[in-house]
Amino acid sequence: MKDSLAWLPPRLIYAALSVAMASLVGWWVDGAFHHRWLTMLAVAVSGVAVVTVVDAVRGHRLLQWLRGDQDGTAPRDTGLFGEIAYRIERAIRERDKTITRERLQLAQFLSAIEASPNGVLMLDENDHIHWCNSVAAEHFALDARRDLRQRITNLVRSPGFVTYLQAGQFAEPLMLPNVRGPGTLSVIVRSYGDGMKLVLSLDITERERADAMRRDFVANVSHEIRTPLTVLAGFIETMDSLPLSEAERRRVLQLMGQQTQRMQTLVSDLLTLAQLEGSRRPAADQWVSLDGLLRRVASDVTALSAGRHRITVQAETRVELAGVEAELLSAIANLATNAVRYTPDEGAIEIQWRQLGDGAGEISVIDTGVGIAREHIPRLTERFYRVDGSRSRETGGTGLGLSIVKHVLQRHGGQLQVESEPGKGSKFKLVLPASRVRQAAAQALAAVV
Ligand code: ADP
Repeated sequence: MKDSLAWLPPRLIYAALSVAMASLVGWWVDGAFHHRWLTMLAVAVSGVAVVTVVDAVRGHRLLQWLRGDQDGTAPRDTGLFGEIAYRIERAIRERDKTITRERLQLAQFLSAIEASPNGVLMLDENDHIHWCNSVAAEHFALDARRDLRQRITNLVRSPGFVTYLQAGQFAEPLMLPNVRGPGTLSVIVRSYGDGMKLVLSLDITERERADAMRRDFVANVSHEIRTPLTVLAGFIETMDSLPLSEAERRRVLQLMGQQTQRMQTLVSDLLTLAQLEGSRRPAADQWVSLDGLLRRVASDVTALSAGRHRITVQAETRVELAGVEAELLSAIANLATNAVRYTPDEGAIEIQWRQLGDGAGEISVIDTGVGIAREHIPRLTERFYRVDGSRSRETGGTGLGLSIVKHVLQRHGGQLQVESEPGKGSKFKLVLPASRVRQAAAQALAAVV
């Protein structure tokens, strides 16, 4: 209260001074001219006029400041207008601060939505685009600036989307083929405010692909297991219902053993794959002698071939590879056993090592076998992909070998390269980066020999 009347005392002082001045001048004039009251009135009116003019000048200055953009400080006056100017300026500065703060919050809010991996689109009550982030613009093939205030259904004409939006039943998300090409979008709509709509879009192409792969994988595993199980069930029934001779019984047991072995190999390959996928990238400081690996592969392959092929394995590489020994062995062995399985008798199989110009290493498994047509090559490392299913199964294949090889190489930063020609043979190359290849130290060599 005291504060709100601060302008009053100066005014009262002005008035008192005017009256005092009028009395003084009146008293003096009265003495000189004998018109005391008239002169007192004239002096009082002049005092009020002076105050009015001063207020008018101050009021005008304040008004000028208010009419402008209020950039500088308000006129610094004393008295009534001084206080008015001060209060107005303070209110304006407060409002400016609030606006700046809110603008900043809005900008932060919009950049957070912009950073979202989901598409966000706001529609007004007439389905006109109010705002959209760049992901939504990408998903719906929109221009985030040019298409603002356009009706969404004029721009996204997919019948599924138009019907969904018009029906107003948004409990279930809409699966929409991606407007920009192959792929699927999941679209969710939520109503808010006064008939406004929030449209959220999510690219689920990868998820759908992974789901399809998982479904295929389960179907494939089931199929692979069901076949030997059916055969086993048949044999069990045969043994149960038919009187078999000793030779027949032995033959049936041998066939049952083969099917059991097939299932065991399949389960073991599946476990290997699961382990490769689930474990951490191998350290780059565990060095394994390549010569040791090649010797073990050579002995396995020689046993599998049983003299049917000419096998040559490069003997002394004096090289060490960084990685997991069991994994590297399994990769080379998989390629080598494939070479034996897909090369007719009398064919040749060769395993070579070569260091490339940039220090990378290359292990090649070359055969003169059946070869692979060009169109199959990109798909060879897919799980259960077989070019010749019956040959694969006859030779104990699971269709998972090259998939395992690819995983091992990926984990070691390498890659698998395949060159092949039907009827002429194949060359499978394991390429490892320079960081995982080194010349063996002398003492390490001695330990291997
Ligand atoms: P599988 O257990 O069937 O051999 P892989 O994943 O090891 O499974 O190989 C996938 C397919 O690639 C095989 O089914 C076979 O058709 C083909 N393949 C692999 N290695 C060779 C090779 N050395 N020569 C010809 N075809 C091969």
